Amino acid sequence: MRIDVITLFPDMLKGFLEQSMMKRATESGAVEFGFTNPRDFTTDIHRTTDDRAYGGGPGMVMKPEPLFSAIESLRKADSRVIYLSPQGPAFTQAKAENLCKTSHLIFLCGHYEGVDERVLEALVDEEISIGDYVLTNGALAAAVVIDATVRLIPGVLGGGEAATAQESFSSGILDHPHYTRPEDFRGMKVPSVLLSGNHAAINAWRREQAEKKTRAVRPDLM
Ligand code: SAM
Repeated sequence: MRIDVITLFPDMLKGFLEQSMMKRATESGAVEFGFTNPRDFTTDIHRTTDDRAYGGGPGMVMKPEPLFSAIESLRKADSRVIYLSPQGPAFTQAKAENLCKTSHLIFLCGHYEGVDERVLEALVDEEISIGDYVLTNGALAAAVVIDATVRLIPGVLGGGEAATAQESFSSGILDHPHYTRPEDFRGMKVPSVLLSGNHAAINAWRREQAEKKTRAVRPDLM
């Protein structure tokens, strides 16, 4: 999979994508990242990427010319162009599962008041929001969507399909509690069923705990 990010702040993302699982995913060849700065597509001496909004009001708007040029320099027949935006449908695990099957993703990150609407009309396939709040720019939102998507590419996480199949949302509800050694930490003991070796009982306990947590904090998922 190839992922290109169009952003005024490539360094915000590079640091994140060069660590941990994203680094492993790159090294294994599962994903290839590219960064494109709209400033490199400006033609004026000041390398201007924004301008005042028609109709007035506070804040600046990202100009169409550098964004059209940036997207058109990357876009191929199999590309999917996604604008990170608080106005998009909310990002979900199901959307990550869908995106991880795409061969080429282009993420467009806005800044200021956002981008000129003609970019969305002509070149953007879909918008994605990472939640009902407003960030200063789209780089962090792109990092969230990329991380959740790339970890689902087969082979990126150790443990095969099982590594993601039993997680929160993949199973429809939230995940069950997890414990590791030591068995007794400061008097807090690991539930005895997990030490029993009885896998049917362990699975039943985990399901019960997962449902209990989901009912308590995310009843909408039940
Ligand atoms: N004027 C816009 C509005 O009210 O809908 C907000 C623009 S925001 C300050 C600047 C950029 O940050 C956006 O163009 C978008 O790329 C990104 N952004 C902000 N909040 C986001 C969110 N919740 N999800 C995804 N991207 C977001």
